[in-house]
Amino acid sequence: MQEMQIYARPSNDVESLKKAIVYKLVYLIGRSPEEASQRDWLNATLFAVRDLVTEGWISTAKKSRAKDTRRVYYLSMEFLIGRTLSNALIAEGIYDRAQQALQELDIDLEEVLAKEVDPGLGNGGLGRLAACFMDSLATLSIPSMGYGIRYEYGMFRQRIVDGRQIEKPDAWLEKGVPWEFIRPSKRFKIRLGGHVYFEGKKCIWKNDEEITALAYDQMIPGFENDSATTLRLWSAHSGSTFNLADFNKGDYFRAMEKRSSSENVSRVLYPDDSTEAGRELRLRQEYFLVSASLQDILKRHLRMHGTFDNLADKVAIHLNDTHPALAIPELMRILIDENGYTWEKAWQMSCHIFSYTCHTLMSEALETWPVEMMAKILPRHLQMIFEINDYFLEHVRSNVTTDEEFIRRVSLVEEGDVRKVRMGWLSVVGSHKVNGVAAIHSDLMVTSTFADFARIYPERFTNVTNGITPRRWIAVANPDLSTLFDKYIGKEWRRDLTQLELFKKHIQDPEVKKAIPAIKRANKVRLANYVKKELGVELNPDALFDVQVKRIHEYKRQSLNVLHIVARYNEMLANPEKDWTPRVFILAGKAASAYYVAKQTINLINDIANVINNDERLQGRLKVVFIPNYSVSLAQIIIPAADISEQISLAGTEASGTSNMKFALNGALTIGTLDGANVEILQNVGEDNIFIFGNTVEQVEELRRHGYRPFDIYQSDQQLRDVIDQISSGYFSPNDPNRYQDLLLNGLNYHDYYQAFADFRSYIETQKAVDEKYKDQEAWVNSALQNIVNMSFFSSDRTIAEYAEKIWKIKPLKSA
Ligand SMILES: *Cc1c(COP(=O)(O)O)cnc(C)c1O
Repeated sequence: MQEMQIYARPSNDVESLKKAIVYKLVYLIGRSPEEASQRDWLNATLFAVRDLVTEGWISTAKKSRAKDTRRVYYLSMEFLIGRTLSNALIAEGIYDRAQQALQELDIDLEEVLAKEVDPGLGNGGLGRLAACFMDSLATLSIPSMGYGIRYEYGMFRQRIVDGRQIEKPDAWLEKGVPWEFIRPSKRFKIRLGGHVYFEGKKCIWKNDEEITALAYDQMIPGFENDSATTLRLWSAHSGSTFNLADFNKGDYFRAMEKRSSSENVSRVLYPDDSTEAGRELRLRQEYFLVSASLQDILKRHLRMHGTFDNLADKVAIHLNDTHPALAIPELMRILIDENGYTWEKAWQMSCHIFSYTCHTLMSEALETWPVEMMAKILPRHLQMIFEINDYFLEHVRSNVTTDEEFIRRVSLVEEGDVRKVRMGWLSVVGSHKVNGVAAIHSDLMVTSTFADFARIYPERFTNVTNGITPRRWIAVANPDLSTLFDKYIGKEWRRDLTQLELFKKHIQDPEVKKAIPAIKRANKVRLANYVKKELGVELNPDALFDVQVKRIHEYKRQSLNVLHIVARYNEMLANPEKDWTPRVFILAGKAASAYYVAKQTINLINDIANVINNDERLQGRLKVVFIPNYSVSLAQIIIPAADISEQISLAGTEASGTSNMKFALNGALTIGTLDGANVEILQNVGEDNIFIFGNTVEQVEELRRHGYRPFDIYQSDQQLRDVIDQISSGYFSPNDPNRYQDLLLNGLNYHDYYQAFADFRSYIETQKAVDEKYKDQEAWVNSALQNIVNMSFFSSDRTIAEYAEKIWKIKPLKSA
């Protein structure tokens, strides 16, 4: 039967857009065009464009219901999605039309776009990966939904005062979020606390606390496919869940006080994903996400099927890191306690449903929770984890080994003074697939972190190398490069990055060889203007832009970058006449608020910048800038302007990295170690087009085994010694000469856990090769082009297609 169309589909020609924007401005925002601010125009445009996406979104959902396809639910504590409007305009193919519509209203689209808040609902790579994945799920029409938390305060805003990081709250909701839909009917009760008891064999959980989760939906538009997927974010709402006893006692204030403390659960993002947070609120947040999402998933399933018997056929749930791993015992609890399934049947279903991505190898980043804390907050889940552990260890004893040492290592519960639940182990045991995020990482995963589990479940482990969306990282971030691609290979590359193959036959074309450096230069000017405006520092766009932007962390070795900068500074002062390739070092990134060494590193970078930028002997040939408040929108300005991409983590520590991919795709050459996805970037772009240095994973381990002695390196390398002595004696911090004593003398010199000294010489020499190559601009441009055209493997569309095929067993929804 033909469906009745009772609404008018909005048109997207310039005239209609113009009318729609003004309509929204007047009737939704309540402003006349004469008195509207830039933000009013932004919001009006967002509302108008949202209308264009909505129908495709609704019909996608309808199609997926009608076809009753298997669907994947992507659970992540973080989604770093960046600004919405520019991306949506590109997805809808109406960027130019919107620009013209606004222009006819005397409004500049670019200025309006820059007004949008950049929601910081993630820390870094993990959250940004989830965002790229949502974009690819939408573009590939994979039946899917993302679930996360709508933190009231996202990642803190970083300010630099006197060279030091200051954290300011990010009240991103205050300006309104026109893109989202509130779903007042999608609310679920989240139970916490209390105790458990048994009635016969039946376990009963008597909770003593309740929070309400309320859904907010965002559409994630697919690229020109008239479809969209959903990102559903949960907000804690105490709603009607007052403590009635308090009210009845007339204790209004006490009741209200409890209300606000229960809303705390979605108040703020934990600004550190690389060490175990170990805080009770974080555990509550994780359960909040898991419980709300599972209730939603199961309710949807039950409405369509009337039974959970086929749940494992229809539902795939993906755990982005261990943070949502409580979903495993939660699903077991619901199936067994609330729906009467047998333990074995529930476990069999659960293992079919879950899959898990491991994001780290560093043991300090593996999540654990004290048994005692879990007993207090989630007593039934702890009980269930013990049951899973018994079942699992029995399996190990009868099928693998009875070696008690082995059993102790793989137990989901770590024994000791403080007993702890190992969330990584739980995730592996409860999933049918576990993947690493780059080839080298997945290899190391099964030989180190999960070696015991690879013995128990050899078929369970796999690799899916990360990727990035070419829509945001080229189409939005680098419009000039997009235009160049369009001219030579058409527009399809946005949907299918393997189309870059077609560009290969044009890379010798003189026009292309001229266009590439011209585009790079324009992007450098754009960044230089930003830096001039924000920091008052003048950058020379003809200098080599050397960029390291990412979270500040010891393993990422911003300190190695710093050692090179100071070494170069000294050499330039010693040989001022030499024909030095002018360089601009650009760094950005946030340090977790409690991470002392990371904060010291930021301080050091700024102190060094201060001295170098004001040293006239350098004649402007060396500059250092630390750009505050690194975020997705800042990355979009910085990355297309880079000549050199610094990916210098100690081999074996960076699981994949994704900024390495963004840079290379935008034509920067990588200087990097054989770590994470750098290894695969090398394979794709070829060794002449990348600068690899430093020890390999094997060499790093060899050093660790035989006692690494950084002090010996310090003593034998004079250039290194000079740099260290200079920094630690206060050369860059004359008003506080002892400022970097701990950081360098005690930190690096005696421990240097991340082996910066061991790679120093090789890094310095490789940086010289970078200078030499940059002098030969033709060779440089050739290499930049080789990077660009060989990066199609790193599209997140390829990544998601692999997940869908290998892990989730889900096929795209066919159109029509
Ligand atoms: C891509 C991205 C990251 C990840 O960077 P890595 O260098 O891979 O750690 C972090 N933050 C933002 C804002 C990003 O866009």
